[in-house]
Amino acid sequence: MTEYKLIVDGKPLATTDTFGVVNPATGEVFAQCQAASSEHLDQAVAAARKAFPGWSQQPDEVRVGKLKEIAALLQEHSEELAQLLTREQGKPLQGFAGLGAHFEVGGAIAWTEATAALHMPVDVIEDSDQLRIEVHRKPLGVVGSITPWNYPLMIAVWHVLPALRSGNTVVLKPSEMTPLATARFVELCNQVLPAGVLNIVASNAGSLGAAMSKHSGIDKIVFTGSTPTGKRIMSAASATLKRLTLELGGNDAAIVLADADPKKIAPAIFATAFINSGQTCAALKRLYVHEGIYEELCAELAAIANSVKVGNGLEPGIDFGPVQNEAQLNIVAELADDARQAGARFLSGGVRPQGPGYFYPITLVADISDGTRLVDEEPFGPILPIIKFTDVEDALRRANASENGLGGSVWSADVEKATQLASRLECGSAWINNHAILHPMAPFGGVKQSGFGVEFGQFGLDEYCSLQTLHISK
Ligand code: NAD
Repeated sequence: MTEYKLIVDGKPLATTDTFGVVNPATGEVFAQCQAASSEHLDQAVAAARKAFPGWSQQPDEVRVGKLKEIAALLQEHSEELAQLLTREQGKPLQGFAGLGAHFEVGGAIAWTEATAALHMPVDVIEDSDQLRIEVHRKPLGVVGSITPWNYPLMIAVWHVLPALRSGNTVVLKPSEMTPLATARFVELCNQVLPAGVLNIVASNAGSLGAAMSKHSGIDKIVFTGSTPTGKRIMSAASATLKRLTLELGGNDAAIVLADADPKKIAPAIFATAFINSGQTCAALKRLYVHEGIYEELCAELAAIANSVKVGNGLEPGIDFGPVQNEAQLNIVAELADDARQAGARFLSGGVRPQGPGYFYPITLVADISDGTRLVDEEPFGPILPIIKFTDVEDALRRANASENGLGGSVWSADVEKATQLASRLECGSAWINNHAILHPMAPFGGVKQSGFGVEFGQFGLDEYCSLQTLHISK
């Protein structure tokens, strides 16, 4: 069985401890990953601290050059990384609308290239005969990155590359459920980076993330994951006043107005609700549809849902893979059962198939409303509630009546009217006639209990910097 290495200070950990990684399509362990202890975490933090002065003082062009080399390495190894993602995460190699493992690797490359193209500008506030005021961006030190299991490679890139670009060094901790593509990514990066600039630790013991959050050698935590874990991190990080970026859970609402064309919008709604089998932070998770087109849109979506193929993502022609782990599968099944008991109408799916693996069918649930668990909680799986509304102000109120605020969308033939309404959604990103479309230069982040701080582009880069203001009296 292949054993994947954790790289600390430029070399694999000196340990024989490992843990097994499960393929969710079979439910069986298919590879081993080295397991790091809290002493290994200390070593990783020490290596990152040691590497920081050298890395942060490199000329900007040197760091840009390294990022470009990383992008080329990802490109060269894209097939290997995609296969690994499919095996550990479950998403098909290609998948529905091409949004599978190759899409994730492509995204990782695109974001690496875009991050390489960012600048570390010096802002000039005043430049008069008497006074010049300059604002400089400086790296924070050691960044701790903690990632989830839904997009292991892409989210690692979202955290690590801007941190490195701005001169920080990094200790990365992937989810214990999906450590392998990330471990391989770090190994590849270490072919071009100086030792200690990027380190990785992982373990299935469950305490490394907590240890990172309170570690006195880490200056900032960037975390993507659930809201409860984000709260624990914020609390633990307070002892050392770490900077934080928290990208947490979402329960994104979409509002479909009466003038939208059901046939035209159904494919995009379906794709963004079920991208990565719904295991996407900013997937469309609550669909509010005007009563005038409710049945027609339900029928269009059901026709797509009943035509797609769920299976092992390594096989050709598979649209959707399994849920990534059994605990998440149980949550999805529970929410479906609860909806059934509340009298909801299942347009597709809703029954867990027999056989190995953590499979669940693509499930559309109509005639359901707020106050049921499926609408009020984040399902993070292949199930979508479709809620009927009569009055658009009421739909907006219900969309905003969530403690989450990651994304939202409005769908209409009248783009101006939809834009007005979308701007009243309480969320970090709002889309008009689309959902969950990200751009490497456009800030992305949540409000309310979806977290704080943004990623991507110049705004995202600033999260890895402190500002130093120079007041120069002439
Ligand atoms: P999770 O919170 O269970 O785990 C995420 C990471 O945190 C893992 O690496 C885990 O080992 C680590 N961790 C666990 N306990 C910890 C602790 N006490 N201290 C520090 N780290 C700890 O989340 P998950 O189940 O892997 O991911 C699913 C969740 O992530 C969903 O809620 C989803 O919406 C959210 N998510 C958000 C975004 C976003 O950008 N906002 C993106 C992807 C996923």
